[in-house]
Amino acid sequence: MLEIVSFTLGPAQTNAYLVADSETKEAAVIDPAWDGHIILQAAQSRGWRIAHLWYTHAHFDHIGGAGAIADALNPLPLVALHPNDHVLWRAGGGGAFFGFDIDPGPEPTIDFYQGQALRLGSVEFEVRFTPGHTPGHCILYVSSSSLCFCGDLIFAGSVGRTDLPGGNWEQLEESIRTQVFTLPDETRLPSGHGPETTVGEEKRSNPFVGGL
Ligand SMILES: [Zn+2]
Ligand SMILES: [Zn+2]
Repeated sequence: MLEIVSFTLGPAQTNAYLVADSETKEAAVIDPAWDGHIILQAAQSRGWRIAHLWYTHAHFDHIGGAGAIADALNPLPLVALHPNDHVLWRAGGGGAFFGFDIDPGPEPTIDFYQGQALRLGSVEFEVRFTPGHTPGHCILYVSSSSLCFCGDLIFAGSVGRTDLPGGNWEQLEESIRTQVFTLPDETRLPSGHGPETTVGEEKRSNPFVGGL
């Protein structure tokens, strides 16, 4: 069964999610935002083994805790990211622009792609490619739990910004309509910033893409 521990960390108050299969105790961190030692401690106290770091995208505030997590683990976690965000990852997630120099941790060696199935014990995650906020942004859908980790694609009452390098409003809107609004209305949307919402709620009332 999927278990989730949420954190809000770092200078951009980014949400990080520690997810695990409670039976196998295999864990992944979706967007290890900042303060890796806090995430690590939460895993260790539950007896979970972090085997994967999954990045919705490579902005510095979503990967800033990766170095500290990886430093404490042997074997190293496998890092997964869409290849279109590798350039951003190499550039430290754009942190220098905001005055932050992060330890990015191990190089991503798993390439996300549309429709890819990721397994965590018995739990399956589906990768959906959702460019717009960054060129390689992806979201992770867990149909068995009716939730979708949507990074900085869509928020409760808002959407990801498209004014940073590689951002594109038309792509973002298209990604939301084809990859999020096609999910069942009751699907929960834990995002990269702010409170959780649902697909139905955003379809109805999101001021940027709602009113459906
Ligand atoms: Zn971002
Ligand atoms: Zn963010």
